[in-house]
Formats: sequence, structure tokens, C-alpha cells
Amino acid sequence: MVEFTPEQETIRQTVSRICREKLAPRAAEMDRTGEFPWDIIQEFARAGLTSMFFPVEYGGLGKDLITSTMVVEEISKFNTATAHTFTGIASSRLPLLIAGTDEQKRRYMPRLIREAGVTCLSITEPKAGSDVAGMETRAVKDGDSYVLNGHKCFATNGSVAVLYFIFAVTAPGAGARGISCFLVERGTPGLTPGRIEDKVGLRASNVSELTLEDVRVPAANRLGGEGEGFKICMLALDKARLDAAAMGVGLAQGALDYALRYARSRVQFGQPVAEFQGMQFLFADMATSLEAARALTYEAARRMQARDSSTSHFCAMAKLFASDMAMQVTVDAVQALGGYGVVTDHPVERMMRDAKILQIFDGTNQIQRLIIARGLLGKSP
Ligand SMILES: Cc1cc2nc3c(=O)[nH]c(=O)nc-3n(C[C@H](O)[C@H](O)[C@H](O)COP(=O)(O)OP(=O)(O)OC[C@H]3O[C@@H](n4cnc5c(N)ncnc54)[C@H](O)[C@@H]3O)c2cc1C
Repeated sequence: MVEFTPEQETIRQTVSRICREKLAPRAAEMDRTGEFPWDIIQEFARAGLTSMFFPVEYGGLGKDLITSTMVVEEISKFNTATAHTFTGIASSRLPLLIAGTDEQKRRYMPRLIREAGVTCLSITEPKAGSDVAGMETRAVKDGDSYVLNGHKCFATNGSVAVLYFIFAVTAPGAGARGISCFLVERGTPGLTPGRIEDKVGLRASNVSELTLEDVRVPAANRLGGEGEGFKICMLALDKARLDAAAMGVGLAQGALDYALRYARSRVQFGQPVAEFQGMQFLFADMATSLEAARALTYEAARRMQARDSSTSHFCAMAKLFASDMAMQVTVDAVQALGGYGVVTDHPVERMMRDAKILQIFDGTNQIQRLIIARGLLGKSP
């Protein structure tokens, strides 16, 4: 079991209060309209949460990954779509932290923190999803700038971001070693957010297409060296997978709590349905797999914090196990409510739709299995 320090517990309670007061009452409406929760993101930013693990010297809180995982879990209990927006911001900034020069960090970090700047990490393309190295967006050096052309899709925060981390090919034919990462500011001519995806779940998170047409970016905005983009991308994906696992844990906890409350109050055959052993076994299985996923998720966070060489392996296992668990637990929560589980008066149908996406983004669960198996066989991910 994870034991939080008194300081972590205080942060968890702050997040819980914001979510209970501001997010929970609007969750169903946000799911219906797809509304982007600007005010809540601002509130999280004011509390320093969106830049929690940025170093103090750049204006962050300098917190560890156990704390940030705990925050993601807590938000997800109330509304996973907002947790997705939140992690989209927190994780997409990670490349700046791991690969940014001092000058780049000084230029962007304080601004992002001050202005609650929404950020977007854009890797996926219509022809390159799981096969990241198959991307086609090109970045061609021209004097002291690069010119970017291509089409991106499924970019979380794509139409609301102020800063984009765009991955593009600088050396065609070099595969993974030919990819570089660029910081592109909103409003740069040629960068156009496109269609916002109408998704089955996480409906209030903004996921859009991006078109890049002769987007000129100063060479000083390249993150890391030429060809280091794939490595940066994989490090960022480890964190994104840890966040996805935390989302699964929080989402499943929210669903289990709701289903238990319902089963205690719903009377059939003269007694609460929670009194039937068939229902109790369902809840017992939900709780057991949830705790196993939680333990694995925080173990992945601990290893990432310690910069352990097994980080990618554990983040992949946590993402795979926690998202599959969240899918099963939310399906069971719907079952526990009977017919009321499938109507929008109760949140469990939304939670079930949200859970499906956790099995797909940040690398599908098939890809997580590949990463895990390669780790076991001693091959590189
Ligand atoms: C809500 C949402 C948010 C997202 N946010 C972002 C974001 O912020 N930034 C970003 O860059 N991307 C983002 N993505 C994209 C996401 O990471 C991709 O959708 C995902 O990696 C899968 O790519 P794909 O959709 O092209 O599927 P494909 O790669 O076309 O896969 C299709 C099917 O084939 C399977 N498959 C593919 N290759 C293999 C293999 N080698 N072995 C076994 N099975 C395989 C897959 O598991 C899947 O079932 C987001 C996606 C969603 C849905």
C-alpha cells in the first residue's frame, strides 16, 4: 500500500476539494458539451499543480513523481477527461525539462507557469500511430531556422495550447534516429489546429488535428540535438503511461465507490442488493484488481523517480494493467447498477466510455505488451 507523507496528503486534499466543489457538479454536462474547463485548469495552475515537478528555480513546486501520480489519481476519481487535459499539460512539458537548454527553460518555463499555459505534445500522424518512427512531418534546416510541413492528429490540447512540442523528421531514411523535437508557439504562421475529435469518452478533453504548412521555427527552438527526438519522445511516453495508469486507478476507484453506494441503497427482494453474495463477489474482485493496479502504478512512479533502468518496463506494465483493470471495473460498475447503469443519470456509463480510451492512447495495450516482452527478452523497447 502507498502511504502518503503529511505534505502529500495536504496536496491530495486540496485537489480533492477543488474537484468536489468545481468539477464533480459539472462532469456530466462537460461530457455532453465537450466544454474545455479553462477555469479549473487555471485553478490547478494557481495551486502550482500543472508544474508540480518543474524545478523550484524555474517557478515549479519541485515535487516528486509519487505526488504527481497521486494528484492524477485524485482528479480521475471525479472526472477523467479533466485528468487527461491536466496530464496532457504536465506530461507534454516534460521534454522541456529533460532536453531543454538553460536558455530554453528560462524562456518558457516561468511563462508557462505564470500564464497557466496549456501545452501539447504532438507525435501521432494519420499514417504513423503505433509506428512512431514512420512519421512523415518534415523539418528542413534553412539558415538559422527550420521549416516544418506535415499533418498531425490526435493531439491532446491541440486546439487550445499556447506551446506545441512537435516531432518531425530531420533525416529522412534514418528511422527513429532521424526524428527531432521542436517548440512551436501558438500563432506561428502556418500552424493550424484542425478538426476537434468527437470521441466516445474523455469527451471534455480537447484532441485535435494539426496542420503545419511552411511553419518557420528558429533553430534555437529545437529541443535536444538533431535526431534525438525519438529518445525524448520515449521518455515523455514513459511519464504519459504512468499518468494513464494513475487515471485508470482513479477512474476505477470513482466507479467502485459509486457502485458500492448505489448497491447499499438499492433494495430488491426486500434487501439492499449489496447484501447478495453474488454482488459482494463482484465488488471483492473489483477492489482486489484495483489495489493491485494501484500498487503497480506507484511502483512505476517510484522507479521513474529513482531513474531506475526498469522505468519503461514498469510504466508499460502499469499502463497495461491499470487501463485493462479500469475497463473491467467500470463495466462491472455499470452491471452493479442494472438498467440505471446505462443511463446518463448516473456517472458509471461515462466512466466506462472514458476507460476504453485508456487502453488506446499513449501506445495501445498491444504495444505495451510488446515493450514488456522485449524487456523480458533483453531487447531494446
Ligand atoms: C484520446 C486520444 C488522445 C491522444 N493524445 C495524443 C497526443 O497528445 N499526442 C500524440 O502524439 N498522440 C496522441 N494520441 C494518439 C495515440 O497515441 C494513438 O492513437 C495510438 O498510439 C495508436 O495509434 P493509431 O490510433 O494510429 O492505431 P494503429 O497504430 O493504427 O493501430 C491499430 C491497431 O493495430 C494494433 N497494432 C499496431 N501495431 C501493432 C504491433 N506491432 N503489434 C500488435 N498490434 C499492433 C494496435 O494495437 C491497434 O489495435 C491520442 C489518441 C487518443 C485516442
